[in-house]
Amino acid sequence: MGLVVQKYGGSSVADAEGIKRVAKRIVEAKKNGHQVVVVVSAMGDTTDELIDLAEQVSPMPAGREFDMLLTAGERISMALLAMAIKNLGHEAQSFTGSQAGVITDSVHNKARIIDVTPGRIRTALDEGNIAIVAGFQGVSQDKKDITTLGRGGSDTTAVALAAALDAEVCEIYTDVDGVFTADPRVVKKAKKIDWISFEDMLELAASGSKVLLHRCVEYARRYNIPIHVRSSFSGLRGTWVSSEPIEQGDQKVEQAIISGVAHDTSEAKITVVGVPDKPGEAATIFRTISDAEINIDMIVQNVSAASTGLTDISFTLPKTEGRKAIDALEKNKAGIGFDSLRYDDQIGKISLVGAGMKTNPGVTASFFEALSDAGVNIELISTSEIRISVVTRADDVAEAVRAVHSAFGLDSDSDEAVVYGGTGR
Ligand code: ADP
Ligand code: ASP
Ligand code: MG
Repeated sequence: MGLVVQKYGGSSVADAEGIKRVAKRIVEAKKNGHQVVVVVSAMGDTTDELIDLAEQVSPMPAGREFDMLLTAGERISMALLAMAIKNLGHEAQSFTGSQAGVITDSVHNKARIIDVTPGRIRTALDEGNIAIVAGFQGVSQDKKDITTLGRGGSDTTAVALAAALDAEVCEIYTDVDGVFTADPRVVKKAKKIDWISFEDMLELAASGSKVLLHRCVEYARRYNIPIHVRSSFSGLRGTWVSSEPIEQGDQKVEQAIISGVAHDTSEAKITVVGVPDKPGEAATIFRTISDAEINIDMIVQNVSAASTGLTDISFTLPKTEGRKAIDALEKNKAGIGFDSLRYDDQIGKISLVGAGMKTNPGVTASFFEALSDAGVNIELISTSEIRISVVTRADDVAEAVRAVHSAFGLDSDSDEAVVYGGTGR
């Protein structure tokens, strides 16, 4: 029996009962002969509560202190989980990200893991312990400051440790039975996916399916670590995310034409109004944004009105970066030369993902027909080889997801998808 990494999300350890339930599950894996490394998130909505608290104290807290604050959440859950395991008669030791050897760059609030040196974890395992690691945190290589990996970052911690420790599998335990064809909180008839390729999962995750963080899937693909996403509340087999289809019975699970529908309401749209329609303008705008270390998503440039020679450029970005982007653009207003800025945070994005899109020409047309039948107006469009995304009004998102899900025949005719816990925050 090899080494397994198990990651438990916030909803799985939301209260003392949850921690005790998870502890039992971990001990089972150990009793089955595995070496067990556990990555744990902060309890319930702790991280959100800490963010709310910081905002009450300062509207723009310094990144270093913000990270120091947020990492406290995972410290609480890791220590409690180790205590609960000891209470069941098994040895466990908890480690911060830094103690576990999670080394990152120094970009606070969204640091990237650049190395993992899990010497202390190895020692703890060799001594017969279960190792509990605080997710979502690391230590910067140059300044030795505490960093966080961005919201949902415990998924990445788990896969990074699985890769560094050469684990058999990385199990991600959450509050639903696996990856579904759409968010079960929005589509009651969503179907559980038995197997999904890294590529399709990467697109779903990048498009807002927060059941797995996209950086975690990127990492898993790079190091070829199979991920098993499953519920910590049921004993059901979940979804396998890997490079090759898994066997089920004596058959291989087939690659689906369409994997699923994702949605995202965490982005905002900025429109730069009245930009001169000449070479170099887009470059100046997006250099300004990138110098502020902000990642953007979609872009659209309108045709310029012939009479004025001016155009508008719109782009989407995480709402959390909205203030920073507006400030950066305003500061460089003279350099760019625009009239005004418009900020709109009442938008949502719907994406259809599937490798089959490459070879099935009707997919795009059916997608737009479904949206039009549902009376949903489209504001922006972007595509990749295996994804098509549109931006709509935030109010239309749930209806649009359900319409597209039905139109592509993804609705299940049996059990409704179960959501065991969590607040969906
Ligand atoms: P955790 O606290 O375990 O990290 P998250 O809230 O980050 O849990 O992720 C689980 C949630 O992801 C589910 O409760 C569900 O609402 C949401 N979700 C979004 N898209 C999907 C999908 N395609 N399949 C399953 N869950 C999804
Ligand atoms: N606790 C962090 C968050 O809520 C990290 C995680 O749960 O993965 O984003
Ligand atoms: Mg998560």
